[in-house]
Amino acid sequence: MVRLDLEQSKGNMYQLHPFVWDCWAPSKVKIFVWRAIDGRIPTKSALAYRGITFSDLLCPFCSIEDEDVDHLLASYPFSVAIWEEVCRWVKIPSSSNFVDVKSILFFGNGWSSNKVKKKLLITVFFATMWSLWCNRNKKIFEGKAILIHKVLDDIKELAFLWLSIRSKISIREWSLWFGFNLDGMMY
Ligand SMILES: [Zn+2]
Repeated sequence: MVRLDLEQSKGNMYQLHPFVWDCWAPSKVKIFVWRAIDGRIPTKSALAYRGITFSDLLCPFCSIEDEDVDHLLASYPFSVAIWEEVCRWVKIPSSSNFVDVKSILFFGNGWSSNKVKKKLLITVFFATMWSLWCNRNKKIFEGKAILIHKVLDDIKELAFLWLSIRSKISIREWSLWFGFNLDGMMY
């Protein structure tokens, strides 16, 4: 189903945002981000748009703003805190201009002229958005608390797993990855 979906939509995906798809995230996560760009992941706002009724559209975490994709993945306080931690980890200056999914991806694309570094960063960004989404679902459907350090660990482990499976980068030590030591990783 997912594979079919990807095959059918590949043309559009590459046409719209060619840079984004050149990373080591799995297909299901690429599809998730592709849908997120167009607001088509099942947040309350997106479901309401399709006719599902809620008592309110408020974000289940902050209860201040409506839950839509850009709020959830970029601008609500927990996401902001996660992006700050991710930026600190990958040693990029600041996430203050990460206002929505598109701005995050455009930043990733423009970050480095080194193709491998760019792919690496976009892979981390995909892992971040995917982890935010999975943890949101764990909280809503399983009542699990979401903690910043736990989500950050998820992101590091997930991106490491994807790199190990799909890239030719050899990471000699886990500590190099945790320190995001690029020189150590590229050798
Ligand atoms: Zn919120």
